[in-house]
Amino acid sequence: MRKVIYIAIIAAIAMFCLQGLWIGNMYRAYVTQTIGTIENVMSVSIGKEIAFRRHASPYEDPEHPKIVYKAADDMTPEERSRLKGDTLDLDMMTRQHIGSNLAEMIMQFSQDDFIKKGKFVLLSKLDSIFRKELGRTEVAADCCILLCGKDTVTVINSFGVLPDERWAKSTRLFPIGTKSLQFIQVKADIALSPFLREMILILMSSILLVVITLWCVIYLVVLVRKKDKLFKQREASVNGTVHDLKAPLNSVITLMGYLKKKLPDVSLQKIVADTAAQTRNLVNDIEALLITARQDKQKIILQKTETDLLQLIEHARESISIQYVGKPHKITLESDFNEAKLRLDPLYVTNVIRNLLENALKYSNGGVSIVIKVGKEKNEVVLSVEDNGWGIERKYQKKIFTQFFQVPREEVVHQHGYGVGLAYTKYIMEAHGGSISVESEPGKGSTFICRFPVK
Ligand code: ADP
Repeated sequence: MRKVIYIAIIAAIAMFCLQGLWIGNMYRAYVTQTIGTIENVMSVSIGKEIAFRRHASPYEDPEHPKIVYKAADDMTPEERSRLKGDTLDLDMMTRQHIGSNLAEMIMQFSQDDFIKKGKFVLLSKLDSIFRKELGRTEVAADCCILLCGKDTVTVINSFGVLPDERWAKSTRLFPIGTKSLQFIQVKADIALSPFLREMILILMSSILLVVITLWCVIYLVVLVRKKDKLFKQREASVNGTVHDLKAPLNSVITLMGYLKKKLPDVSLQKIVADTAAQTRNLVNDIEALLITARQDKQKIILQKTETDLLQLIEHARESISIQYVGKPHKITLESDFNEAKLRLDPLYVTNVIRNLLENALKYSNGGVSIVIKVGKEKNEVVLSVEDNGWGIERKYQKKIFTQFFQVPREEVVHQHGYGVGLAYTKYIMEAHGGSISVESEPGKGSTFICRFPVK
């Protein structure tokens, strides 16, 4: 249960983290886009500012421009001879970000001319043009225009309030003139509110989704806990009732023993003895049911004594033969030893053997042949119960050792039991430090192999 809660919490945290990551990426994209817009606006503003300076300057005569450009191919030989080696390398200037086209280059040459004449960029004018242009966009940012020197770090002049360095984002450097003597840069404190306004709906809906998911998980956990509590209460009461059944049955067995002694008729004595044996089997079944039901809560306490396994096999064989007197069968014992002494709990191990023999008889047709083998392998005494009954399909061979599992069969009428016998057998074997396994083929029979450690 705790695992489910932890997984739900981790999943919610992971969801929040992913959301945070996504919002972070969106914010970075928003900043890049805004800076791009500011750069475009500044580029246009620089062009407009130089146009303003040109018109405001008395020397500028639009009819007789100072700078005339002509491609080398369009020149007459006289014009070429007057060039004195001054050429314009457009590719190189583009690489240096001085301008990206001829119009921008012309503008930069004009800047050179103005700088030569001491007519520097009018920052206040540039600022007012820039703000007007920026107002036409949707950008919300506090901007400050910097005029930097040749080394691009020294600020010669600035206009506007310089934003806090921690939050300020810078545009690229815009060179003023072709000589790279001055640069314009914008420092901007980009407002978060438009971004948040855009994100708020997505953010709110995803938070709502996370909260709903968490609520569902918590509701489910509470529900499962309630059901689990109810189930445990029911289980405890069933176990209690089953346990209480043992006491009257044991009294019946004692009473039958007393009756048997008192009865003069031998055939009547046999009937009473058989009934007592059946009742004892019922008590054993109750014991198995209780042990498997409680196996994860209580460890059984074994009363280990030095016991001959072969004797236990004999007892089990006798008791089963009485119980299944009406079904033709043959049980043979093949042992490598005359005696197989082991430290084990005789009561529980007899039940194990009885279970295996009973199953061999239950899940077979009349005339079944059962062979019990006892041998030794390395440090283990191996007891196997082999039958030529119905067998078990491979896909069920592991499951039969789990509680309440019964192999689905057509012969439903023959299914006597609760699906606890083998779970109980496995539990008892493991309590003894041993193991149980099965080899089986449908239609041919099964062999159950029990391994007891020899210490
Ligand atoms: P149950 O008390 O119902 O007999 P078990 O735990 O003893 O339950 O057995 C589980 C299932 O394994 C049974 O439903 C039965 O179909 C199958 N099984 C057990 N022993 C044998 C066997 N010797 N031959 C064929 N099937 C068997």
